[in-house]
This record gives sequence, C-alpha cells and structure tokens, in this order.
Amino acid sequence: SMKVILVSSCLAGFKVRYNGTSVENAAVRWLVTHGQAITVCPEIMAGFTIPRLSAEIVGGSAADVLNGKAYVRECNGNDVTAKYIAGAQMVLEIARKNNVQAAFLKENSPSCGVNTIYNGQFDGHLLRGSGITAYVLKAEGIKVYSDLELNYAKIKPFVPVSVSEQFINAVG
Ligand code: SF4
Repeated sequence: SMKVILVSSCLAGFKVRYNGTSVENAAVRWLVTHGQAITVCPEIMAGFTIPRLSAEIVGGSAADVLNGKAYVRECNGNDVTAKYIAGAQMVLEIARKNNVQAAFLKENSPSCGVNTIYNGQFDGHLLRGSGITAYVLKAEGIKVYSDLELNYAKIKPFVPVSVSEQFINAVG
C-alpha cells in the first residue's frame, strides 16, 4: 500500500508559527509541492491563533504530560496542556487514516520537537525530549525525524524510486 509522509506545516513554508513566521525547509517544501507529503500543524488544528504566545513543556517529558504529571504552559503561565494534547490526537487520527509511515517535524517545538525541546524555563535552553505530537506519533510506531535530519536516505523508503531520484537531483 502507499506509504505516506507527514510534515510540519511551518517547514513547508506556511507562516503558522507562534510568531507568524515559517521555517521553510527546501526538502520538505519539495516533498509537499510534489504531492509526496501531507502538512499538519497541531497547534492550529487545536484552535490556537497566529500569532500566539510561546509555550513550553514544564515539569517533565511529553509522556509525563500525557499522564497528567507535567504541563504545557504559555510564557505568561497559562495552562494550555489540553489543547496541545488535542492537537496531537488530531494529527494521530490523520496519520492513522492516511497510513502515514514517516514524519518530518520541526525540531524544538513543544508540539513537533523530535530530539530536543526547550526546558520549561523560557530561558532559551534546550534539553533532550520530544514535543507532544512527535511523542504520540513515535508511540504509534511511525518513523519520526526532525527537519535537521531530513535527507535522501531518510525519505527513500517512503517514496517511489522515481520520486527519490528527482528528490536527490533537486534538494539532495
Ligand atoms: Fe505548527 Fe508544529 Fe510548526 Fe509549531 S512546529 S508551527 S505546531 S507545525
């Protein structure tokens, strides 16, 4: 059956980040414009606006958030945990319905971060860990990579050979 890739909307060039910017990634953009990836933004799906306050996971890991032992807070202290979990569940539903097998998500985000996230102190320091959406997708058995890890070798198993050849010619 067809293998489907999911990507963070902001990496495809959509200005959906908390501060109204994108962080366009040429390889992600290429996959989307060539019909090889579905874009998702869990925070917009959960009903957040653009712009919105920055948020971080406070007091534990993504797993702790899902177990009610840690929280997602905006920089002013607002508890937005429920919306972050709702966004992750909406993305998981899309992933299940579309037979998604791989995801390339924006590193450091409290939703999409794959290997690193901010430490919950709003002081700009990172620690090892996942955002809520990335954690939920990993738990589903989906291969989840960050934008910093996206290359030909990573996409090759998830697209037809003809597409992977075009990809390497276009963006490596
Ligand atoms: Fe949306 Fe994820 Fe990009 Fe944040 S990192 S803007 S949640 S797609």
